[in-house]
Amino acid sequence: MKNKVIAIVLAAAAAVSVAACGTSGTDTASSAAASSAETTSAASAEESTVSSAAAESAASETSTAESTSSEAAIDLSGSKYLSDGVMTVALNSTFPPFEYVGDGTDTFDAITSNENNVTGFDVAMVNEIGKRLGVDVEIDDMDFDGIIAALGTKADVAATGMTITDERKEAVNFSDPYYDATQAVLVKNDSTVATLDDLKACTSVGCQLGTTGETVANDNGLAVNSVKSFNQAVVDLENGKNDAVVIDQIPGEAFTKQYTDLKLLPGSDFNFETEQYGIAMPKDDEVMLNAINSALQAMKDDGTYDQLLDQYVNNYEAE
Ligand code: GLN
Repeated sequence: MKNKVIAIVLAAAAAVSVAACGTSGTDTASSAAASSAETTSAASAEESTVSSAAAESAASETSTAESTSSEAAIDLSGSKYLSDGVMTVALNSTFPPFEYVGDGTDTFDAITSNENNVTGFDVAMVNEIGKRLGVDVEIDDMDFDGIIAALGTKADVAATGMTITDERKEAVNFSDPYYDATQAVLVKNDSTVATLDDLKACTSVGCQLGTTGETVANDNGLAVNSVKSFNQAVVDLENGKNDAVVIDQIPGEAFTKQYTDLKLLPGSDFNFETEQYGIAMPKDDEVMLNAINSALQAMKDDGTYDQLLDQYVNNYEAE
C-alpha cells in the first residue's frame, strides 16, 4: 500500500485518492503542530469539564457531597450492586494509559482481585472510589465489545475510557464525565495519510470492536477492519495488514511511545468530534450512581483526581 503509484498527476480524483492512502500528504510539520495544539486544547477542555461538574454538584447539594475526606460516609445499604461490599469493574486492558497490563509493581489498596495486573488511570480511579465508598474492588479484564452486556451480571461497573453516547445511555447509566477525548489516527511514520480523503482511500483501517472509533470509521465510509483489541489492531498496523488505526487520542499517543515507528494524526485533521469518558453501570441502581458521582466529585475537589491524572496520564511511559 505504501509504495503505490504516485505519478498519476492527471488521474481522476478517485484514483488520486487511492494513491493518497500511502503516498500523498506532505505536511508533516503542520500535522505535528496540530497534534500538540490538540493536546493543549484537550487539557483545557478537561479543566472545563471538571469545573462544570463542580458547579453541578454545588447546585445539587446532596448530603454526601460536602465531605471531601476519604471517610465520606456514603450509605450503600440500598445499593443493588454494592451492598455486598464489592465493586466488580469491567475493563479492557489494551487502552494505555487508562488501562494496560503492568509489571505488577503498582499496588492498589482497595483492589482485592486483579488477575492480569492491570494498571493505569482508570484502575487508580476505581481504587480511589472503592476506598472512599468502603468497598473492595475486583478488576475483570475482558473484550471491550462484551463489556456493556456484562454490566449487572458479571460486573457492577465499567471503567475503561468508555465514551458517553446516546446509544449506550439507552442500555446503561453513566457517571458524570471524567475525561474529554477525541478519536485520532495512528499510522506508520512514513505514511503520507493526512486527510479524510486519504483515509477513505486506505484498504484496511483497524478498529477495536464496539468502540466509538469503529462507529466514526463506519460513519465515514472507511474500509474497517475490526478486531477484538487495540493491541491486535496495532500489531496489524506494524505488519502492514492495516494502513491506519482509528483510536482515542491519548491511547494513540501511548502506542507511539511503545512503537516508535508509529505517529499519531490528531482527530481535528479529520473533523472528529469531542467525546467524554464516563463510568458505565446498570440502570437499576441510583444509589450506586449517586455514590460514585459523589466519590468522583470529592476526588476532583481535593486534588486527588489531578494527582492521579499527572501520575498515570501526563507522565505515562511505555513499559
Ligand atoms: N472511547 C472509546 C469507546 O468508548 C474506546 C474505549 C476503549 O476502547 N476502551 O468506544
